[in-house]
This record gives sequence, structure tokens and C-alpha cells, in this order.
Amino acid sequence: MKTLIRKCPHCGLYTMKDLCPVCSSKTVMAIPMKYSPSDKFQKYRIKLIEEDNSAKNND
Ligand SMILES: [Zn+2]
Repeated sequence: MKTLIRKCPHCGLYTMKDLCPVCSSKTVMAIPMKYSPSDKFQKYRIKLIEEDNSAKNND
């Protein structure tokens, strides 16, 4: 599920619309997926899963 937060480069307003409701400038994606906080949690979760799997192998 993607978070479609956009930002107006002209006035810095955050919106979910393609056009800024204030100045009608075309908005850009505010948060690239790379830098999304949820991605950090996902990496952490994958690490925990890997550790869990290796623990099972040792059993
Ligand atoms: Zn604007």
C-alpha cells in the first residue's frame, strides 16, 4: 500500500492532490519510498525473521 503524500514545490504545502489547492502548481511526491520510515521497520522485521529461521535450523 503506497502513501501518496505530495508536496507543492512552490509553497511547501502537503497535499494528496496533483495540483496544489493554494497556488495550483503541480505537486511532487513528498516522501520517496527509500526514505519511508516503514521501510526501516520492514528491514528490521526481515532481520528478525532471518534470526528466527537460523534458530530453528540449530534446533
Ligand atoms: Zn502551492
